[in-house]
Amino acid sequence: MLDEIYKKVQNEKSQSINLLNDIVNIESFSGSKPNVDNLSKFLSEKCQALGGKNKFFPQKDFGDNFTSDFYSGSDTVLILCHMDTVWPIGTLQERPFTIEGNIATGPGIFDMKVGITIALEAIRILNELGVTPKTNIKLLFNSDEELGSENSMDLIQEESRKSKVAFCLESSFKGMIKTARKGVGMYYLSINGKAAHAGSEPENGISANVELAHQILKLNSFNNSETGTTVNTGRAEGGVVRNQIPAKAEALIDLRVVTNYDASELDNKIKSLKPVLDGSKLKVTGGMNRPPMERTEGIVKLYKWAKETVKDLNVDFIETGFPVGGGSDGNFAAATGTPVLDGLGGVGDGAHAEHEYIEIDKFHDKISILASLILNIHNFKI
Ligand SMILES: [Zn+2]
Repeated sequence: MLDEIYKKVQNEKSQSINLLNDIVNIESFSGSKPNVDNLSKFLSEKCQALGGKNKFFPQKDFGDNFTSDFYSGSDTVLILCHMDTVWPIGTLQERPFTIEGNIATGPGIFDMKVGITIALEAIRILNELGVTPKTNIKLLFNSDEELGSENSMDLIQEESRKSKVAFCLESSFKGMIKTARKGVGMYYLSINGKAAHAGSEPENGISANVELAHQILKLNSFNNSETGTTVNTGRAEGGVVRNQIPAKAEALIDLRVVTNYDASELDNKIKSLKPVLDGSKLKVTGGMNRPPMERTEGIVKLYKWAKETVKDLNVDFIETGFPVGGGSDGNFAAATGTPVLDGLGGVGDGAHAEHEYIEIDKFHDKISILASLILNIHNFKI
């Protein structure tokens, strides 16, 4: 059957490309509810036409999330697809969907409209071949992944808990499957010093900027190349004018950790930062956003099973072998203990960057891979 899947995907390349074109052509910036709702409507109609049963989870400020269930069975496989992109409305006009040789470009194509297309095409291919997976396949489309999935993480975790495994259709890492991801923490540091004239009475001031400088260096000392922990002060600002000792400063801090143990240790370290200057005050808010996706025994087992399952397809299927730095909804799914394979989406590069692109031949391979996995997943024993 894998042969037939592969052949059908190869014979119907233009159909897959047309769907990708349609999906890229509906802009879906996270911040724009009406636009993301347009995509949500388009995708839910596609799902319905393929036999999916849709369930909507309306959102007030973001696009409406929805799930679509295909086939039936006692087990469920959850497939994660986020609809939103980081590209403001209007970007499409500047950089329309374009194909040159084996390369396709367009806003959000790599992250992750190609992944959405792969999921829908895998189901179409199986349907048209007349084969029915013995497992319930649940596609979950959310609208706020690029903002941290705060409004969809409960839904993702609730559905993950009920699922045998989860596949995340985020883009691959240089073509590789992601079996581990770092967890992500987001913090806000605010510093209160004391204002004073910089010329006539500097000794009466407490410089929030000097305090901030101390704290940035302290935070920087938490970086650890052995454990993979990274800490970055991404934005730092303070003070108002040249000739005033600054009373206020603030910073945005990004934390990435490999293990849950490091997550709690670093979270604690950042939250217990102490002022260096007498009289200055620190306030740290925020915390871990996405927990680390650790390379658990279940994930390793799933990866090995998947690799074995697709070996006759003659396509690339290898894992990164290290935790990638970017977080995804796979992190939330994995935190429930359900085995997750992430990065099953497109091959290309340039997520969140203007040179974003995908490789078209690999896009077709990924459709064959996903179709083969969902057709055979009933054979996977946890
Ligand atoms: Zn993404």
